[in-house]
Amino acid sequence: MNPTHSRHTRLAHSLSAVGLLAAAALAPVQAAPKAASAPVEALLYSTMPSTAAHRLQMAMDGDANTYFQTVYGMGDGDDFLMLLSRAVPVQSLHIVSGTPEGDDLLANAIVETSVDGVTFTKAASFDAAGVADASMKGAPVAFVKIRLKPNSSVSSLALREVTLTSPEAVTHVAEGPGRGFYDISAAPDLAAWAKKAEMQMEDFWPDTDALLYSDKFIPPNMVNVVYETGPNVTGVAATGGGVMTVNSAWAHAHADDTGLTVHETAHVIQAFSAYNPVWLVEGIADYIRWIRFEPQNFTYRIDPQKSTYHDAYRTTAAFLAYCELHYDSELVTKLNKAVRYGKYDNSMFKTYCGKDVDTLWSEFVAAYVADPKGVLMPPMAAADRPRTLPAVTVGSSKPVSLTSVFGSTGIYADGKAPGTGGVDGEGSAYSAAFLSGPKIYKDVQFQLGPAGGPDLVSCTGQVIPVNAGPASSLWLMATAVEGNQMGQTLTVTYTDGTTDTLSQNFSDWFQPRNFPGETRAVRMPYRLLADGSKDPRTFYVYGYGFALPPAKTVKSVTLPSNPNVKLLAMSLAN
Ligand SMILES: [Zn+2]
Repeated sequence: MNPTHSRHTRLAHSLSAVGLLAAAALAPVQAAPKAASAPVEALLYSTMPSTAAHRLQMAMDGDANTYFQTVYGMGDGDDFLMLLSRAVPVQSLHIVSGTPEGDDLLANAIVETSVDGVTFTKAASFDAAGVADASMKGAPVAFVKIRLKPNSSVSSLALREVTLTSPEAVTHVAEGPGRGFYDISAAPDLAAWAKKAEMQMEDFWPDTDALLYSDKFIPPNMVNVVYETGPNVTGVAATGGGVMTVNSAWAHAHADDTGLTVHETAHVIQAFSAYNPVWLVEGIADYIRWIRFEPQNFTYRIDPQKSTYHDAYRTTAAFLAYCELHYDSELVTKLNKAVRYGKYDNSMFKTYCGKDVDTLWSEFVAAYVADPKGVLMPPMAAADRPRTLPAVTVGSSKPVSLTSVFGSTGIYADGKAPGTGGVDGEGSAYSAAFLSGPKIYKDVQFQLGPAGGPDLVSCTGQVIPVNAGPASSLWLMATAVEGNQMGQTLTVTYTDGTTDTLSQNFSDWFQPRNFPGETRAVRMPYRLLADGSKDPRTFYVYGYGFALPPAKTVKSVTLPSNPNVKLLAMSLAN
């Protein structure tokens, strides 16, 4: 979380003293030895980013004309790692560095191998031609690492071909999934913390890759995680030059803060050549951690008077999340990409969100003050908002005639065969044993159509004239077929020419969902099938109630435009 870290600023403390830091405690790849006959797969890793034109597997594709090349220089903490799915006896390693033009030949670099990922042994040095040849005499190898000698650098790591000669050939080469290889040699009692952090980093690495995606840019897929403390070590954590340093004293004191490595992994994947602007880079990294990875643990640190969008960390993270929620769901990806290519400026908020950054910030603060807990919740669809059913005075309700709009028959007397009609148009129908004539529900009187029909409205936007005088609530008996029908709208037109839009989710007649404004008006122990037989499951007609504005008189009601919403009765009440 240290704002000074940058890939150009190699960490101040001496990594060379650690030597090859990963030598101390790389977690072994395989939990259990595999059968010797299992195919051998190689996963390739780099602490340095590359491009689509020079991906990792081009270092091991048998073609010296294609090659892996990093987009930044290689330094002390960086390495290239090949991880085999199991140890195999190796006769020799032959590694050719540099581009086909002969640039970026490795000279001050070595090749190391390991069986367990803990103890690495030097196998060869690169010669002046940028070639390393190691005679292994059949020694078992599971890890091959290329790193620079201390205090060296090269302007890019270019690997034309890595050739491993073994009686057990490598059959598959792939880029490794993102991984932090940790070293707790200086803080062995942090094993559980480091293991948990490693798993969280691995879990969320692909998500972060996707969120911070930029065309053709291939982020690093590994970082060396060092746990140490002391006066020269960053206070919490810092990332740069292939190394994530976690202050082991901080980790000791903050058992639940393993998510900080997810923030640092965002920096690994950002792989920016400069943190410009720092507030946005840190805001994005905290957005990855707090908004995407562990929102359940997120707490605001916003002072409505003093905070600004460029406060970095959590405040910027929350602001970015607010802008994504209301304006551009890919804002973070776009801003991150702009920072990568040095093109960010504040006008991008206007470009992507349609409002300048100060206006957006004021809006966010107002929303935060109004609802500190809900400010980052997705806006709720009108039909999803909880509501209570209107109260009704007994005897005040007036059924609305649907005779002019009944279009089919949904209610049959038992023993009659609905044939091809019914509620769902496939012959399934309500039984008149439960639905007939006047029906009282919640003190509202409904008038159902006659069994044998017509008694059912398939909603297609029909306009129902209403002549019932002033009313304070509108009531429906209805259902949905073919699943729940969400976010349906009815339009109420008043005699004064004004209108209201009512939103409602309708449950399927077989599966009540208790949507806001919906209750089970009539529960039926069976329905009728096309041939007149009974389907002995429970089916429903639902009741829906809507409050209407006082002192207005309804002139008409326009039904939803969705034939899977089936209306049986309508009433107004006071
Ligand atoms: Zn940071």
